[in-house]
Amino acid sequence: EIVIGVLAIQGSYREHEALVRKCHPNARAVEVRKGSHLKNCRGLIIPGGESTTMANIARRFGLFEPLREFQASGRCVWGTCAGLIFLADHIERGSKLGGQELLGGLDVGVNRNFFGSQIDSFECQIPWTATTGTDEPPFRAVFIRAPAITSAGPNVEVLAKYKLPESKKAKLVGTSDEGRDEVIVAVKQGKLLATSFHPEITSDTRWHRLFVDMCAHETPYELPTEDGEELV
Ligand code: GLN
Repeated sequence: EIVIGVLAIQGSYREHEALVRKCHPNARAVEVRKGSHLKNCRGLIIPGGESTTMANIARRFGLFEPLREFQASGRCVWGTCAGLIFLADHIERGSKLGGQELLGGLDVGVNRNFFGSQIDSFECQIPWTATTGTDEPPFRAVFIRAPAITSAGPNVEVLAKYKLPESKKAKLVGTSDEGRDEVIVAVKQGKLLATSFHPEITSDTRWHRLFVDMCAHETPYELPTEDGEELV
C-alpha cells in the first residue's frame, strides 16, 4: 500500500484524494490536518486553493514544522497551483505575498497571478512530455487564478510549458516579462513535483500516477517524536 497524504485544510483536496485512489490500485489517500497524520505517508500533495489562506491556517494548526520535517526527510511533495506557490523559493516582484510563510525548496521563480484574476481562468490542451511514453495524448490543463513559473534553476526538470497567446503577450508589454512567449507550468526537482494547473479536476490520472510512482520508492514516514506523543 502506498499512502499519500493530502493537505486537507483548504482548497481542492477531495478531488486529489479521488484521483490518488483512481490512478493506482495500491494507492491510498489520507487527509493531513495535523503533523501526526503524516505517519506512514510516502508523499504529500498540497492542493490548489488560496495560498495566503492556506498558509494562515497551516500556521494556526502548527503545521509548518511537521511539514518541513516531512520534506527534509526526503519524502515526495507535489504542489498544485497554490501548492506550487508553497514550494517555490522565489516569488516574483509584482505578485506580493503579504508576508505569508512558505515551505520552499523548489528552485523556481513564480509569478503568483500571472494569468490574471478569476475571469481570466481558462483551460487548454498541452503536449504530454513528462514521461517518455510513445504517442501519449496531450493533457487538459485547467488554470484557475493560476501562478506561472517564470524561471527555473539548473536542477529543475521542465515537464510542461504553455505557449502564450498574442492577447496575453500584449498584456506583458511594459512589464519585466515583455517579449516572453511561453511560461513553465510543470516541473520536477528531485523529490518535488509542481504544477500550476489543476489535474485533480480532470479525469486524466497521469499526473497523479507520475507522483504515486515517485512515492512508491520511498519508505513510509515515521513521526520524529516518541510513539503516542501527539504532534499538533
Ligand atoms: N492565485 C492563487 C494563490 O495565490 C492560487 C489559485 C489556485 O490555487 N487555484 O493562492
